[in-house]
Parts: sequence; C-alpha cells; structure tokens
Amino acid sequence: MARIRQEDVEAVRERTDIVTLVQQYVGLKKSGARWSGLCPFHTEKTPSFSVDPAKGLFYCFGCGKGGNAFHFVQEIEGLTFPEAVERLASRAGVTLRYENVAPGERRAMGKRQALYRANTRAAELFHQMLLHGREGADARNYLGSRGISKEAAEEFGIGYAPRYPDFLLRRMTRDFSAEILVEAGLATKDGRGEVRDSFRGRVIFPVHDLSGRVVGFGARLLEGDGPKYLNTRETEIYRKGQLLYNLHRAKADIGRTATAYVVEGYTDVI
Ligand code: ZN
Repeated sequence: MARIRQEDVEAVRERTDIVTLVQQYVGLKKSGARWSGLCPFHTEKTPSFSVDPAKGLFYCFGCGKGGNAFHFVQEIEGLTFPEAVERLASRAGVTLRYENVAPGERRAMGKRQALYRANTRAAELFHQMLLHGREGADARNYLGSRGISKEAAEEFGIGYAPRYPDFLLRRMTRDFSAEILVEAGLATKDGRGEVRDSFRGRVIFPVHDLSGRVVGFGARLLEGDGPKYLNTRETEIYRKGQLLYNLHRAKADIGRTATAYVVEGYTDVI
C-alpha cells in the first residue's frame, strides 16, 4: 500500500492554519485563546464547538468529535486520511512524496494527475478563446444577452469551444497524449478511429470538485447540430452523481449561514 511520507504529513499539518480551515465551513468567534462556533457535526443552538489554534485541534463538547485539521477534513468532507492529507497539501503548497508505491498504483496516480492537468489546461484555453478569440464573438454576445457580464464570465471561468474539430487537440497534444484527452472526455474517437474535440461550437462551463479542481465541463450549443447541453461523460475524476455545480465556492457560505439555494441550470447559478 502506498503511504504518504510521515515528514510530509507533518509539513502539511504545520502549514495548515486550523482556524482558517474550519472557518470555511463554520462561523467562528474568538473567545480568549480559542475560537468557538456552532458544531458542524451535530445540530445545536448554542456553540459548543471549539478550535485551539496553538494546539491545532478542534473539539465539540456536545457530540465529542475532535481531532486535528486532517480529522476535521475527513469528517466534514467524508474522506479517508490520505485523501484529507492530499486535500490539505494542495492548499498548503506541499508536494507529497509516497513510499511503498506499487508500479500499478504509481501509474494510476500519475494518470489521475494528468486528467486534472488536462482539464485545467482545457478550461484555460476555452476561457481565453471566449474572452479574446475572434470566434468567441457570438458566445460573448450570447452571454451578454443572458445578462452575464465579462466579470461574471471571468469569475466562473466560462469559455468557448469553437466549431472546428481540433481546437484543443492542436494546442494540447504537445503536453498530453491523445489517450489522456479521450479519457478526460475532452476528445472523442469517432467511428473511423479518428480523434476529435468533444466540445465544438459550445459555450463552456467548467465544473469543479469540492477542492476547486476542474474535473469536467457543461457545454451549451451555440451553433451547429447536436443536443442543447452536453456534459463531460463519466470519467475517473468526473462523477456526475457526486458533483454539484459551484458547490466548491458556495460550501463556505452554506456552512456559515446554514442556507443553500439550489437552482437548475448553470446560468441560473451564475
Ligand atoms: Zn458537535
């Protein structure tokens, strides 16, 4: 079994400010050397949840849940310990090293990383095309007609995939294999085995996981034939049943205010 090196786990713990972390989910008030708020793990009206920044620990006097930053993330996001370490490592800017990695495992980890990188790169390319591309003009007009400003387009990373079949392929195959692009759902093999971009002539809404990584896209048809909306097909990192558009940005406010608004479409959310 692959294990994260203990010294790297320590480095992540040292660089993680538990108050800042918990505040993403819970409204905290300072009281003396500690911070307190309403426990996110049980329902209560008076705060019995407390965070001790000096010790890097949290504890709830109501339900007894407690631990360090990793335990908090595990509990609140439903992650395993290694997943919690990985989540906090990317926030803390720590590159994790693994030991006892079997070759198959290393390959699987490398592939997942490549899928994340490919989606991030594609999102940037689509976004730049929307903002500055000549072919993006119709998409800019469409968004304008829906009341979506340039600022909102930037905030949500909205993009445009032009009609031609190799917009991404031409720009990405230097750094990514065609297999990775197909596995990421960015490219599709047609009947004759030819690889082409999956999204063409569409306004692109990047979809993020809870960590804020781009894992896939929703794409609205602007010109040409095809279904009005096309989403990334299920991939190793894009699991429709586990994703809710914009939740990575809304979750902190949902935690703080105990209120969530759920609407149907991408543009409704925006
Ligand atoms: Zn509690």
